[in-house]
Amino acid sequence: MSIRAEYIWIDGTVPMPYIRSKTKIVDDSSDLPIWGFDGSSTNQAPGDNSDCVLNPVFSCPDPIRGGDDVLVLCEVLLPDGEMTPHPTNTRAACVEVFEKYKKQEPLFGIEQEYTFFMDGRPLGWPVEGFPAPQGPYYCGVGSIEIAGRDIVEAHTKACMDAGLAISGTNAEVMLGQWEFQIGPVDTVEVADQIWMARYLLYRVAEDFGVDASVAAKPIKGDWNGAGAHTNFSTKAMRKSYEAIITACESLGAEGKPAEHIAGYGLGSEERLTGEHETQRFDQFSYGVSDRGASIRIPWQVHLDQKGYIEDRRPNANMDPYVVTRLITNTCCSALA
Ligand code: ADP
Ligand code: MN
Ligand code: MN
Ligand code: MN
Repeated sequence: MSIRAEYIWIDGTVPMPYIRSKTKIVDDSSDLPIWGFDGSSTNQAPGDNSDCVLNPVFSCPDPIRGGDDVLVLCEVLLPDGEMTPHPTNTRAACVEVFEKYKKQEPLFGIEQEYTFFMDGRPLGWPVEGFPAPQGPYYCGVGSIEIAGRDIVEAHTKACMDAGLAISGTNAEVMLGQWEFQIGPVDTVEVADQIWMARYLLYRVAEDFGVDASVAAKPIKGDWNGAGAHTNFSTKAMRKSYEAIITACESLGAEGKPAEHIAGYGLGSEERLTGEHETQRFDQFSYGVSDRGASIRIPWQVHLDQKGYIEDRRPNANMDPYVVTRLITNTCCSALA
């Protein structure tokens, strides 16, 4: 019996790429061939030379269709027959850095925040004006405090059924804003799984007629932005506090803060203001339990004198291949 394989890839739309997908009927999930698409419709190729190549890199059960159907995350290659990464393919460089440092056993847990939108406003917001100020919404319960829980539950179940390393969910500080976490898994796996979990989020929300947005500052003013806190450790950091401090210092070294901010997604200036549990985008600091620092050392980590650090700077719309590559490269080269 044939099955449906949903081939998923990241397009070339600037400044923020979209996820695209199309269905291939295959004999079984052990047979997932290279495929192609029209790059002129995805900002990835000119019309007179439009073919781009889809190379499967990660597949899992398709929790939407069920049965033996699968989801297939792909990287985009040039049609040169030499497996050359397409310029929009940020995964290839991530794999390269991971291969270089994988002996250090890097692990990541990413907290993906996002905001539901319907009819041009955040889900649960009144037609005119604003809901009551922030305060009761974070981890709230009740119909005044919460909007979209049925979608969140369906998405969580879908991630679990797909076998993703989803480690939790919570309602966020702004009404209509939520978070899920993926990890801890390695540099490349966490990024593959964040893209797959984003695909499932959009796909599940589609059935509810709701749009999920990863905009960094969806509502201007006194409303929290949406981030993608990135928790990181290596084998050494999971054993010693000295390694934790080395990692923090490496992220603050000359030129590093600017290099990282440039790769942490759009809207840092608007989101990282020093308000709303952030450090300013143009300042660097680290500290124990400090939600106003660029890097937070969780209190438990300080207590245990080992564990992991939290980079609070990545925006919700970041490319996880870029973020985990930068952190792995900066910290692991300092810890080597
Ligand atoms: P917060 O308190 O910042 O909201 P969360 O509980 O939302 O934290 O997310 C913490 C994340 O850190 C989870 O995804 C978890 O898997 C991850 N994590 C836990 N231990 C480690 C570790 N040693 N290395 C990397 N990530 C870790
Ligand atoms: Mn969290
Ligand atoms: Mn959060
Ligand atoms: Mn966090």
